[in-house]
Amino acid sequence: MADYKAPLRDMRFVLNEVFEVSKLWAELPALAELVDEDTANAILEEAGKVTAGSIAPLNRSGDEEGCSWDNGAVKTPAGFPEAYRTYAEGGWVGVGGSPEFGGMGMPKVIGAQVEEMVNSASLSFGLYPMLTSGACLSILNHASEELKAQYLPNMYAGVWAGSMCLTEPHAGTDLGIIRTKAEPQADGSYKISGTKIFITGGEHDLTENIIHLVLAKLPDAPAGPKGISLFIVPKVMVNADGSLGEKNALGCGSIEHKMGIKASATCVMNFDGATGYLVGEVNKGLNAMFTMMNYERLGVGIQGLSLGERSYQSAIEYARERIQSRAPTGPVAKDKAADPIIVHPDVRRMLLTMKALNEGGRAFSSYVAMQLDTAKYSEDKATAKRADELVALLTPVAKAFLTDMALETTVHGQQIFGGHGFIREWGQEQLVRDCRITQIYEGTNGIQSLDLVGRKIVGSGGSYYKHFADEIKAFVAAADANLDEFTQPLAAAVQNLDELTAWVLDRSQSNPNEIGAASVEYLQAFGYTAYAYMWALMARAALGKETQDEFYASKLGTARFYFARLLPRIHSLSASVKAGSESLYLLDAAQF
Ligand SMILES: Cc1cc2nc3c(=O)[nH]c(=O)nc-3n(C[C@H](O)[C@H](O)[C@H](O)COP(=O)(O)OP(=O)(O)OC[C@H]3O[C@@H](n4cnc5c(N)ncnc54)[C@H](O)[C@@H]3O)c2cc1C
Repeated sequence: MADYKAPLRDMRFVLNEVFEVSKLWAELPALAELVDEDTANAILEEAGKVTAGSIAPLNRSGDEEGCSWDNGAVKTPAGFPEAYRTYAEGGWVGVGGSPEFGGMGMPKVIGAQVEEMVNSASLSFGLYPMLTSGACLSILNHASEELKAQYLPNMYAGVWAGSMCLTEPHAGTDLGIIRTKAEPQADGSYKISGTKIFITGGEHDLTENIIHLVLAKLPDAPAGPKGISLFIVPKVMVNADGSLGEKNALGCGSIEHKMGIKASATCVMNFDGATGYLVGEVNKGLNAMFTMMNYERLGVGIQGLSLGERSYQSAIEYARERIQSRAPTGPVAKDKAADPIIVHPDVRRMLLTMKALNEGGRAFSSYVAMQLDTAKYSEDKATAKRADELVALLTPVAKAFLTDMALETTVHGQQIFGGHGFIREWGQEQLVRDCRITQIYEGTNGIQSLDLVGRKIVGSGGSYYKHFADEIKAFVAAADANLDEFTQPLAAAVQNLDELTAWVLDRSQSNPNEIGAASVEYLQAFGYTAYAYMWALMARAALGKETQDEFYASKLGTARFYFARLLPRIHSLSASVKAGSESLYLLDAAQF
């Protein structure tokens, strides 16, 4: 596998040239004093060094060694504790954290690039800080001032880690039926009892404490999702002065043996009357979780992008070096026995698909991150509301589309290696294995599609969609004629998505099955259209500079490939959407 190199040039292009993000920061008072283009560039450069230098070399050994469990203690692979310390001491765990509690306070659009780098270096490693910053976000937004002061500084500093304990053996997608109990105590705390499964970073040897955020139900809670509360449950009790006290009544019963992300500890967690503290209001636990989920779901989409990027870096190097057969148009490397495989149309198709989907994904996830920043920091209520609704609309697309595309890209990256792609030492097969979980956890991609179509499209009567479609139409209308080759197919793609959206809105009124029947293909058609917008924006930023620097020529060539070869996929997806639910219900359960 090629050494990982952070794609800083492309990140700077997206941030500074495509979105001119420093203009947005200057308009948001909370960010204006914290960050500008130079600070951002310096942060990205440092993150590139630490992820490539300290973490990427552990990716394969971490996969080979995996985590181990011994009598409740979990050991991460060799090198992980030291690398985690280096990462934490650099302040990277708290990169997006509130400065009031010691975080760096960077906007999400910077955090998104750092997440991409750490997950490209090692997805297993990246999950530990990601779960910690997710837990911090819920605490920051919903916990009492006292709990924030007690927990956040050590979590941002990476001295303590976090975990999110939602899933139970019988309850994954349907959290309304969880059984973990929370019994109120006289001192205001709660006794938490129950079993959680699949808990990422539930136990490990990276930090001196782990702060679990646990969903549980009070004895008199209403049935279903409206009866769920959220609790902080520390592994080791924290004294009033911040020092560590006794071990809490909880433990790790075992760890899972998995297809991928083997260096990430996936734990069964037993809570045996453990002491917990309520976060937010009783029975409003799912709301508190949703704050965190938009960030985490974008983060999982970025995990997919990270793996696609790492796979591409190895594939392109291999395709330039591996010689096999002659180019169809005649020998290219005449001094060699055969030509490098990059001459072959099918290899170019795979490489360009990877490049177009990775770079489209980087632009799209950065765009969504900018909406998150606008929603959080804009002082203009209408602007913040619009951004918030865009985030709601685009988050399930980012989670599901980026990870679905990542499976395609990592499989192409493996395929380009031929038989060697199947062999462990080359590293490409690990990326495919690691990628698979990104489509499953944090709400499966099927559930993301239902969220998009059911809650965000139908639930808003199409109004959230209109924000996005109107923005693209305004861009097309204002674009120069020299962008026509990009804006015309983009305009047609948006018109197609308008029609699909109207179709879904209409059909959902008469048959409840239509939403679920349309949702996956609708989300994908949406994703390809959103990437077309990103590619048109990137083409605008590159056009006219292609003779100065081959970076821009490469951008324009990839944009042309995207419009010619990938965007047309919307036609078959749209036909599937419009086929409706009927053919899904022709068989009864016994006929399968
Ligand atoms: C490695 C790993 C790490 C994880 N980390 C964490 C963690 O840190 N914390 C945590 O709490 N959980 C974690 N999870 C759990 C993960 O989020 C769940 O596995 C996931 O949400 C799916 O739940 P489930 O496995 O119970 O599947 P189920 O909910 O049983 O779903 C089974 C299938 O049915 C489909 N389905 C279910 N309901 C519907 C519906 N209404 N409409 C259409 N299709 C439906 C699903 O899409 C899926 O394909 C992790 C899981 C793994 C494997």
